[in-house]
Amino acid sequence: METTIRIAIQTKGRLNEDSLKMIQDAGINLAEGKRKLISSSNNFPLEVLYLRDDDIPQTVSDGVADFGIVGLNEVMEKKGKLEIIKYLGFGKCRLSLAIPKSEEYTGVEYFNNKKIATSYPEILKDFLKAKGLNAEIHIITGSVEIAPAIGIADAIFDIVSSGSTLVSNGLKEVEVVANSEAVLVGNHGLSEAKKAILDELIFRLESVERSKGKKYILLNAPNESIQEIVKLLPGMKSPTILPLVEEGWSSLHSVIEEKDFWEKIGKLKAAGAQGILIVPIEKMIL
Ligand code: ATP
Ligand code: MG
Repeated sequence: METTIRIAIQTKGRLNEDSLKMIQDAGINLAEGKRKLISSSNNFPLEVLYLRDDDIPQTVSDGVADFGIVGLNEVMEKKGKLEIIKYLGFGKCRLSLAIPKSEEYTGVEYFNNKKIATSYPEILKDFLKAKGLNAEIHIITGSVEIAPAIGIADAIFDIVSSGSTLVSNGLKEVEVVANSEAVLVGNHGLSEAKKAILDELIFRLESVERSKGKKYILLNAPNESIQEIVKLLPGMKSPTILPLVEEGWSSLHSVIEEKDFWEKIGKLKAAGAQGILIVPIEKMIL
């Protein structure tokens, strides 16, 4: 039987869309159909298993799925049973301590003898230990941010991204304990055949990633300007220069960083460039 790898992703929630997009950007087709638990691809040896994010680490460490896409926060909480294969750059957030905004915060000692509500007791325990603090941990799943207002806890330790949830609950973020983003995780002891499929997947993901923030640029210029324009366009290796039918003119092709784009355009025009075209790059293979 042909080897297939199985990857667990979130059924719905903050990581679902980006996880699916990542798979699709890698050129992998997935059979549509929402309510399904599992879907497979017709052009890549991959099966996708849809789960709640809480269940993903365990499913991967048990080997029911070979890989998973999950927040680093969940991986840290489950403590080292999984191998982090790749940081994926989406689902960015931080794990922070927050206290009522009316409280004065003077430093981590504030948390001594306080009661802290969280869904991440293991990460919090490690932090308290590292800082030599003695606080009581109150485990809640769900709306942790309401705990201080209803008197269950003095502080919270939770996921923060914009901080607006904290503000609307009268809290302020006072310590960032860890940063998180979505990661591709795997279990140790993968067969050689599965490793080969993983390598192909990683190769594709990296090709898409490399093209992020980059644009392809084409322009026309008089030959005497070419030296100066080439200096402005470092490109992957060096720009491609092709003669135009019109005598004394050439076309230049290269790759530029999107962030440098507006600054460079002015300089390119000043150097004599005309008919500048900027086009998106989907994938970039070195
Ligand atoms: P599930 O139903 O799958 O259990 P959930 O409600 O536990 O979903 P989500 O809120 O969808 O989880 O968040 C999933 C992951 O997205 C988090 O574990 C975290 O890594 C990441 N994330 C990024 N930004 C945020 C944010 N602002 N709030 C919560 N999680 C975030
Ligand atoms: Mg969850």
